[in-house]
Amino acid sequence: MEQRLVCDTVRDLLPMYIEQMTSEASNESIKQHMQDCGECKAILEQMQHPVRTETAPEISDFKKFMKKSKMRLFYWIMGAAAAIAVITCFIVNLAIDKRLTWFYIVCAGIMTAYLPAYACIISKKHKFGKMLAVLSVCTVGLVGVVQAVLYYLMGIGRMWFWDIGLPVSALWLLIVWLGASMHLVFKTNLLISLAVISFLAAPGNALTKFLIGDYQEIGDIYVNFIFDGMGDLFVAVISLLAGIALQARKGKKEEKNGEQLLS
Ligand SMILES: [Zn+2]
Repeated sequence: MEQRLVCDTVRDLLPMYIEQMTSEASNESIKQHMQDCGECKAILEQMQHPVRTETAPEISDFKKFMKKSKMRLFYWIMGAAAAIAVITCFIVNLAIDKRLTWFYIVCAGIMTAYLPAYACIISKKHKFGKMLAVLSVCTVGLVGVVQAVLYYLMGIGRMWFWDIGLPVSALWLLIVWLGASMHLVFKTNLLISLAVISFLAAPGNALTKFLIGDYQEIGDIYVNFIFDGMGDLFVAVISLLAGIALQARKGKKEEKNGEQLLS
């Protein structure tokens, strides 16, 4: 019973003991008690070296886990949505046409939407470039599938893949790649890429109409270029200005950080 009382007294004194606010006599008594009493010694040690916040990494692990499982859930939902679309189109296409026709177009479309995203998810480096590369291949593939299904399976229209489908896809992919290269090679922000793409969209549109055979006369090209191109040019200028402003701000921030590191 008395031992219990001593322990309680010692433990009550411990906060002050740690802060070195106890008298010499008390210090001696406490030290002596510590030699005999393991329990109080353990409590003192715990108070002197508070358990390093081991919960912190646990919490961040938990957050990481939650984030990961949320992402996983998101992939599952996306995958399930794609699967439902594919199965539905499979059934409907078979039911209506007694064979598969536009079902292939749906599949190719879904692949074009999913594969670039997948490439982005699984790659650790050069995510943007890889995503764009996969998107480019998928886009040409999708145009090819549309042509093959329409021409060979459904007997609709003529063979337009080689003289229109491929050149037009290649033209626009080239424009997108030229814009993206600003980001990939020169590390500028995506607004500047958008500016380049918008700027090239005007000649791109004109060239597309030319490839499709939309122009009756050569004069139409100029009219199209001037009137349709205005909007593209406007977007190009706005995004270029915004991009430059953003870049300058980022540069200033980095400069500031650099100065802070040096000082
Ligand atoms: Zn004790």
